[in-house]
Amino acid sequence: MSTKPQRKFQPQQSQVQVDLTKADTIKCEDCNNVLFITSTIIKRLSPILSPTGKEALVPIDVYSCGNCGKVPKSMLQGTGLEDV
Ligand SMILES: [Zn+2]
Repeated sequence: MSTKPQRKFQPQQSQVQVDLTKADTIKCEDCNNVLFITSTIIKRLSPILSPTGKEALVPIDVYSCGNCGKVPKSMLQGTGLEDV
């Protein structure tokens, strides 16, 4: 496994073929804002847990509310964080 940060999300939309008017819009759970900014959670993997046997930093890309900074709970699954 590489420890290099990898981009998982592509914020720029390119040639979307589906009708997005029928898709749900994710809103901030706290303030109903619909504009999000990309943020990165960084987990530090201890040498014991790391597959390489060395300490590793694992970036996790999430979106946070552009107004209040809240990250939707669904994006925190698997991070070990309840609230950001
Ligand atoms: Zn918000």
